[in-house]
Amino acid sequence: MPWCGGCERWWAPNAATRDGRCPACGRRLDRRVTAGSHRPARTGPGGGAGPEDDVGFPWHLKLLAAAVAVYLVWRVVQLIAWAAR
Ligand SMILES: [Zn+2]
Repeated sequence: MPWCGGCERWWAPNAATRDGRCPACGRRLDRRVTAGSHRPARTGPGGGAGPEDDVGFPWHLKLLAAAVAVYLVWRVVQLIAWAAR
């Protein structure tokens, strides 16, 4: 997935311009890095990110997955309680 260092975001491969530039700021997108590998080097200090930033999934996706898991567990508990009546 193409990475824009200027916007600090990933772009869909078909979102880039025809010559491989960022549609928002016009920088050349870095296609060497992928979402599954380590993140690209930071452009300056003060990124505020720790080692946990190297994970493949953004934190909000993990939070969503955890919330869905808790909800499903709760529904199973409800189902068992209903079935055991
Ligand atoms: Zn950009």
